Amino acid sequence: MLASGEPVFAPDEPLAELHAHLGGGVDPATMWELAREQGIRMPYEDYWSFAAATNIGSGTQGLDGLNHVYEFTELIQSSPEGVFRAVYAMVGGAYRSQRITTHEVRFNPAKRNRGGERDLDAIVMAAVHGLDRAMLDYPVRAGLTLMMDRAFTPKLNAAVVERAIRFSNRGVVAIDIGGPRPGGPEARYDYSALRPLVERAREHGLRVTFHVGEEGVNAADPRPHIAEMHQVLDLEVDRIGHGIMAAYDDELRARLREQDVVLELCPTSNLRTAAVRDEEQMAEIVYELASDGVPLVVATDGPEMIGTRLRAEHAMLVRLGALTREQARDANRRAHERSFVRDR
Ligand SMILES: [Zn+2]
Repeated sequence: MLASGEPVFAPDEPLAELHAHLGGGVDPATMWELAREQGIRMPYEDYWSFAAATNIGSGTQGLDGLNHVYEFTELIQSSPEGVFRAVYAMVGGAYRSQRITTHEVRFNPAKRNRGGERDLDAIVMAAVHGLDRAMLDYPVRAGLTLMMDRAFTPKLNAAVVERAIRFSNRGVVAIDIGGPRPGGPEARYDYSALRPLVERAREHGLRVTFHVGEEGVNAADPRPHIAEMHQVLDLEVDRIGHGIMAAYDDELRARLREQDVVLELCPTSNLRTAAVRDEEQMAEIVYELASDGVPLVVATDGPEMIGTRLRAEHAMLVRLGALTREQARDANRRAHERSFVRDR
């Protein structure tokens, strides 16, 4: 169900989406057909049960539940053909549905090569082709962010960064890291170990946005989550995925302002994964960040899986009083300005 509220934008106004995962951004019909074409055995009777299972619009078992759905969509996208079709469908669909004309798509190529069976280069190349095709057919500028994973070995994460470098002049614009923590949800991830990879990516003109500060706003002890976010800021990233933890820490907000690091907020995603208690808490968080001058943009995290649309995210934040209409419009302007996508 879409979050209701007065529209913030005219129907033909162009929007920018800076935080959307390929695994959650492709419409269920395309995903179903891809799965069928590739002969993937599915634990679903028909299209409808498949569509319901890959949409967490009615909530999920926290971030773990979300990651479980991701594993399945990643399997369907685990071939060059699957990645090509998925990227094309996502970018084209977002333009048709939301007039998204600046679009960053993120995905982990090493979760789409069937455990090393498929060549990583072929997977990234297919994504680049999907992007090019979409930009040919629609007036869109789009880019790819390659994701590392917190559960990967340093060697595998390095392999992802090498692919990002190899394709950095062909559509890959940034690196990111996500995925479950190897020691469980309560464990802390040592982001500082990523410094050599971050530096190497930067040397090749890539930008950096990391998932951090998404969990922990209701933790009994929020300090480890705050510490993780400081580590990411120490790496001088350009943007942060979520980062809502900063609403509860003055020092983090001061650093975000001073370093001019943009937070990519995905409100409905935070509600669906129960990272945030309810709409009221989400509104408090966004209000606190915005009124304290933290640069932020509004995103979906993956509209098909989360069960939302970018325009609905903006409208919801205005309806809740988290942002004024003008602040929401500013967020979209900022998203265009701070996108890593540059005309090639
Ligand atoms: Zn995300």
